[in-house]
Amino acid sequence: MSVLLTDVLVWAPAERSGMTGPTDVLVDGDVVAAIGPGARVAAPVDVRVVDGAGHHVVVPGLVNAHFHSPANHLKGAFRSRPLETFMLYESPADPALAPTPREAYLRTMLGALEMLRTGTTSVQDDAFLMPTPDPAVIDAVMQAYADSGIRATVALDQPELPDGDKLPFLDGADGNFAAALRAPAPAAAPELLAAYDHLVRTWHGAAGGRLSAAVSISAPQRVSPEYWGALDDLSRAHDLPVFAHMLETRTQRALSVPGTGQDRFAGRSLVRYTADLGLLNDRVNVIHAVWVDDDDLDLIAEAGAVVAHNPVSNLRLGSGVMPFRAMRDRGITIALGVDEAICDDTVNTWGVVKQTGLVHNVSGRDADDWPAPAEVLDALWEGGAAAMRRTGRIGRVAVGTQADLVLLDLHAPAFTPFNDLRGQLVYCENGGSVRMTIVAGRVVAEGGRVVSVDETALLAEARELHAARRPALERTWASVDAVLPAYDAVVRRAARTDVGMNRWTA
Ligand SMILES: [Zn+2]
Repeated sequence: MSVLLTDVLVWAPAERSGMTGPTDVLVDGDVVAAIGPGARVAAPVDVRVVDGAGHHVVVPGLVNAHFHSPANHLKGAFRSRPLETFMLYESPADPALAPTPREAYLRTMLGALEMLRTGTTSVQDDAFLMPTPDPAVIDAVMQAYADSGIRATVALDQPELPDGDKLPFLDGADGNFAAALRAPAPAAAPELLAAYDHLVRTWHGAAGGRLSAAVSISAPQRVSPEYWGALDDLSRAHDLPVFAHMLETRTQRALSVPGTGQDRFAGRSLVRYTADLGLLNDRVNVIHAVWVDDDDLDLIAEAGAVVAHNPVSNLRLGSGVMPFRAMRDRGITIALGVDEAICDDTVNTWGVVKQTGLVHNVSGRDADDWPAPAEVLDALWEGGAAAMRRTGRIGRVAVGTQADLVLLDLHAPAFTPFNDLRGQLVYCENGGSVRMTIVAGRVVAEGGRVVSVDETALLAEARELHAARRPALERTWASVDAVLPAYDAVVRRAARTDVGMNRWTA
């Protein structure tokens, strides 16, 4: 069904005000078919007309460029901890926690519903389907995205090496900790590559191109160069983004300090190590990039890789503040991500937009270097499109682009009174002004509710299934407590080690 948005303002970043109109926008098929006076003329007779009454603005759907759906049921579950200990609780490989396909479907749906309600139309999901990515569970995740109507690019985020290969300062490890460090990763490379084969064959390009595959190495220290190379081959063959967490924490930076115990890095940062392997390229999403130095930034810029910035997660886990201005100065493309419902703890991209507009103000730089709202929105839309390798197809409101659109009511509190579109998008909007969300030409949410699925029934079922899982979850968390002090000690040694830079604010 086609949709005619009448008497609306339209996002136009080249305009001083950030918008044009009032005018009309015709959505036909999965694209924006016309903008302007010709839109009414071109509309088919059975078009659905939505009157913007001169006080609604059409903006591109938000792009959540980095996300892990498997933690969608764990909002607010934990106190803040550094990544290295947070991950013990976040993604335990305990087979008792392996989701049924229905649980995986509902878990994925929780995030999709929240995104669509608040205007996020695209997500890149780096899904860790612990302990192993069973094809039925992959199908359940993808089916949830298919049914919800959101645009999704999904990778399988699985470590391939044991913990003992990933951390610095492991000398003297004994007891339970030594056993935890030796435990093999839950799935080996052949099994993971078979899962990718299933993902790509079954889902890449599905739902009219709305669903696609990516590959994920999780992080350089978590995989062998051989497995990584195989994923890079797959990425090149199908033009898939490569998800790679790099230098999120000071502990990861400490891996590059000689003598900390992981000899394969030979004093190199994880970014330099990646470049030396020949695996840093324009398909790579460098996720976080907090503890990067000038050499790392030059390498990222030279490769044309995109940085996925997750400022709320970086604060929640105490990771640090990414050098936003140094990246922009080098022309590095930045995209924005929620990261996870367990460390944001919403699946609402507007919070990330606002935080991007705030946190860099405490970087100690001159006020002229602080992010301008226009730069933040450029990261949200153009950066997000680039991360997904869909530049020019999403992230814009223009004839011929995918109709991934959000209709915002300028009479809602965030825009009342109206002062400045960009400033109010970045600092005021929280999803509360979203009147309608359209993905690939289909209205998927309106009036604060998702209309593509039975939201009420799905949420009720999710509450019931996750309540039933709670005792197993608590048993697993209790078992983590035994090794927690040893992992904490690693993080504390990294905190005391001179890594040649500071990304903390004090
Ligand atoms: Zn992540």
